[in-house]
Formats: sequence, structure tokens, C-alpha cells
Amino acid sequence: MSKIIYQTPTGMHDIYGKEQLFYDKVEETAKKIADFYSFQKITTPILEDQELFIRSVGEGTDIVEKEMFALKTKGKDLLVLRPEGTAPVFRAYIENGMQSFSQPVKLWYYGPFFRYERPQAGRYRQFWQIGFEFLGDKSPVYDAQAILIAHALLQDLGFKKVIVKINSIGCEECRKDYKKALNSFLRNKKDLICADCKRRADKNILRILDCKNSKCQQVLNGAPQIIDYLCPECKDHFKHVLEYLEEASIPYNLDPSLVRGLDYYCRTVFEIGFSETMEEEALGSLLGGGRYDLGKALKTDVVPGVGFSMGVERIISLMKLNKIKLKQKQEKSIFIVQVGDLAKRKALKLIEDFRKEKIKVYEAISKDSMKTQLTKANKLAINVVLIIGQKEALDNAVIIKDMKTGKQLIVKQENIVKEIKKRIK
Ligand code: AMP
Repeated sequence: MSKIIYQTPTGMHDIYGKEQLFYDKVEETAKKIADFYSFQKITTPILEDQELFIRSVGEGTDIVEKEMFALKTKGKDLLVLRPEGTAPVFRAYIENGMQSFSQPVKLWYYGPFFRYERPQAGRYRQFWQIGFEFLGDKSPVYDAQAILIAHALLQDLGFKKVIVKINSIGCEECRKDYKKALNSFLRNKKDLICADCKRRADKNILRILDCKNSKCQQVLNGAPQIIDYLCPECKDHFKHVLEYLEEASIPYNLDPSLVRGLDYYCRTVFEIGFSETMEEEALGSLLGGGRYDLGKALKTDVVPGVGFSMGVERIISLMKLNKIKLKQKQEKSIFIVQVGDLAKRKALKLIEDFRKEKIKVYEAISKDSMKTQLTKANKLAINVVLIIGQKEALDNAVIIKDMKTGKQLIVKQENIVKEIKKRIK
């Protein structure tokens, strides 16, 4: 019978071993930041109603048009694997009555997201994101703090030279005039832009601004800039955000072409990335976010929010590219070697005694050869090894071997935990 080799679906990958340690490091760093700024973790379902994203992210966006994994349940519900985190968090805020909590409600999340994209460097069909959201407050101070938190997170992960790109895309009112101006600017240039942008010109003209196609970028040279169309309130909001950033000494570049792909953004939008090497640039932005209001699009309560999300795969690729190392945890640990059936039983029990005292025990408990077990202890660079041979098992004793000096000591089994605690304090 020929064997079948099963593989992960296109654009998806297993995470294990050293790779998993990188993911753990990113999550732990985000958790520390979240604790400091008093963000509570939220975990929402992987599947959500398709309408949630069509209405919030918006028709005409790549996510909605091309990238959603959709499925119909037996009950005929149309669900999708979540492509992003803000709409689900907003849904959870409304659904769970978080408006009655003290505002802003500060939530963070970490989990897998799904987009049906063409797999390439830095782009997967299942990827992990960490996100932070402030919900229920429209003050520009939170736009600035969202950027500060994102910046702090990247610094704590070891990225010292990142740059904030920032823009304001105003509110719906400012955008009406701006869209008209952009439309007339592009009127006699439609033949010069890519096929996607031709479509966008009718559906979602702002999306043309962040098209990565170099021809489209050339055409846009000299295009009107949204910043010149901001209404007085939006202008004032943006001015405050920039002042807060300056006060906090956060380096930023104004980027008039930054609009971010999703419909729900209003006013501040930002991305943080590198402008260092082509390799880093090619991986795209590390993190992006902005201010949003999903209430109107979702036909529910109007709730201002601001936040960001960070792609974990890209962060990890860049950690490796920048040779950022994971620190090895220095644990208090020992190795137990056993020879013979009675010794095996005693060792199994002893491991439990050490667990209760929070002392980590390594073992190779299925092995019978003393040499094999000692070799493993050596490989793990463990200094304190406990040996229970056949004689020791009968005598209720344990040998403590110091692997550095080679010195050995015999201790009664009932005293062993106390003795080890003394040694590895
Ligand atoms: P977005 O929700 O598109 O603003 O993306 C936020 C961040 O998620 C980006 O800056 C990327 O780091 C990451 N990201 C987005 N799409 C993907 C993908 N297909 N594969 C891996 N990371 C992604």
C-alpha cells in the first residue's frame, strides 16, 4: 500500500521547536506591554458573520473582494474565517454591553487570522496578529498613545530603528471634497493606471493612493493631498496627535499617500516599518493602525476607537534578519538518571516531588542505559544529576553527582528534595 503524505494547506505552516519560541517571545512581550498600559486580553471566535467584514472593512477592498475564506454552515449561515481583528473586537464591545464600562475600554488580542492571498515572502493565508484597541473615546491623546504603545512594543522586541509613517484621512465630510478633487485629477490619466486602480477609481478611489504599482505611484505624483482637505475639527485633531508625538520624542514622517486599505478608518492612520534595506522593505509594514468608527457602517451605536495590529510572521522574519536573539531562560533544573525497574518507579515519583517545589526535572525515563542518560544530561548542560541505580533503589537512596567537579554524594530519598533546594538556590 502506498503511503499518503499529508501537507499543510497552501500558505499555512506548522509552528514548532525554535520557531514556536519566537512566537512565544512576541506574545510574552506584547502581554507585558498590555499589562503595563492596563489592556485586558480578549479572545473572539475564529469564525464570524460574513456581513461583519463586508460592512466594516468595506466593499472594494482586497480583503472583502478577494481574500475571505467563506463557508456556509448546515444551518445556511454565511461565516468567514476572520481576516482581521478590529471588527470582531468592536462587535464584542457592542454585544457585551461594554459601553457601560469605564471608557475607553482597552483590549488586546493575539491569534490566527486568514486571508486568501497569493503566498509570497511575508504573506500567508494563515498568519498571526497581535492587536491593541482603545474603544469609546475620541480624544487625540489616545491616537498618540496607540502609536507610543506600538513603538514601545517594537522597541521591546529589539527593533531600535523604526519609523512611524502617519497621515490623516479626515472624516467622511472632508473626504467627499477630496474624492472629487482626486477624481478630476485622474480623469485624463485613467489609461496610465493599473487594472486594479481603474476599478478602484469607481468603487473606492482612496485605495489608489496606496497602490504598490510603481506606474500608479508615478501617476500620483502631483495628485491633490488629503491633508489639504481636512475640515477644521479633523485638522485640529491631527495637530494634537502630532504635538503629542513630538512631546514624546517619537520620530515620524508625514506620508500623504498613506490611506490604509480598510474603509473603517477616519482621521489618523499610521504604519510602522523600516526604511533601511530593500529586504526589510519587501516584507512590508510591521504594523498598522489608526482611528476608526465602525458604528455607522455596522448600523449600530457610534463608538470611536483607535488601535493597531501587528503581523507576527513579519516581526519574526525581521527579528531573524536583524539577528535579534532569544534569551535562554535560566531555570533551576536537574536531571534524573535511573537504572532498573524499581529505580524507574522511584524516579517517576521523585519527578512529582520536584514539580511541587517548582524545580524543573529533565529525564530520559524510558531509557535503561546509564551512559545514554548521562550523555543527554551533558547535552543539556545540566550540572546537577541524580542517579538511582539498582542498589540505591533498594537502599532508598539517591546519588547526587556534580557534573562540573565529578563529586558524588549519597543522600536518603526522603531528604533529596531539601538537599537539592539548598544546592540550586
Ligand atoms: P492589516 O490588517 O492589513 O493592516 O495588516 C496588519 C499587519 O498584519 C501587517 O502590517 C502585516 O504585518 C500583517 N499581515 C497582513 N496580512 C498578512 C499576511 N497575509 N501574512 C502575514 N502577515 C500579514
